[in-house]
Amino acid sequence: MKDQLIRATALNGQVRAFAARTTGIVEELKARHQASPTAVAALGRTLTAAAMMGAMLKGEEKLTVQIKGGGPIGQIVVDANAKGEVRGYVDEPGVDLPPNAVGKFDVAGAVGTNGFLNIVKDLGLKEPYRGSVPLISGELAEDFTYYFAKSEQTPSAVSLGVLFEKGNYVVKAAGGFIIQLMPGLTDEEIDEIEKRLGSLPPITTMLDDGLELDEILANVLGMVRVHETMDLHFQCKCSRERVEQTLISLGKEELTALIEEDQKAEVNCHFCNESYSFEGHELEELIQQIEKKQNG
Ligand code: ZN
Repeated sequence: MKDQLIRATALNGQVRAFAARTTGIVEELKARHQASPTAVAALGRTLTAAAMMGAMLKGEEKLTVQIKGGGPIGQIVVDANAKGEVRGYVDEPGVDLPPNAVGKFDVAGAVGTNGFLNIVKDLGLKEPYRGSVPLISGELAEDFTYYFAKSEQTPSAVSLGVLFEKGNYVVKAAGGFIIQLMPGLTDEEIDEIEKRLGSLPPITTMLDDGLELDEILANVLGMVRVHETMDLHFQCKCSRERVEQTLISLGKEELTALIEEDQKAEVNCHFCNESYSFEGHELEELIQQIEKKQNG
């Protein structure tokens, strides 16, 4: 099944809901970053949440999620936009931890709990919107729930998960949902949603069982109205041209030093792990471009 996301409402629009299947993208993250299972679980959960938050945006708006918890995998950074394009990395993808006390990936141990969940939204305004909350769990779903409550004043339920095949390091199912309660719901309606959330199977179990995204939301909300279905893609903005511009911005002296020291330059994109190499003569050409600009 394709990686997709749906945007839906329920209970006369007083609940808005998002659900995403990210199995393919999370497998791609694993391969691109040669990441350990625990790092993939942490990065995959973050990317799934970011993809759904991207679907809350419009047009050219975009956002960045940064999680800095002081744990051994370092920071997690994910970019997402309103078009279903996502990319992300973790500082130390090779770090792995033994399972936690309940036999699950020790995501909290890897991420750490001494830090912050930061959100930066580029809404096309002069200043980006910035939201930040301290990490309360490090397991991430709880942290996003806390972020929505504290920073966006929206009571929410967030579920995120990554499941691997048994005995095989392949992502079997990844995805999540965000359910947001708007003002106007009755206590009975809220109680019913909470009751259903409490008895819900794990998100990865439902995905692995072949449930459609709207069926997953319906398990919590009853009847749902799907407003949009969007394909999700891993998409990086890097290119050789962009890297050239970055090298040019270093200036003539820095580039000359690079040529003298290494006779080449190798630039690696954090987000997609693509490498761009420049031979000495190519760096010379960039210097010539700088000189041309300065003289003309
Ligand atoms: Zn890239």
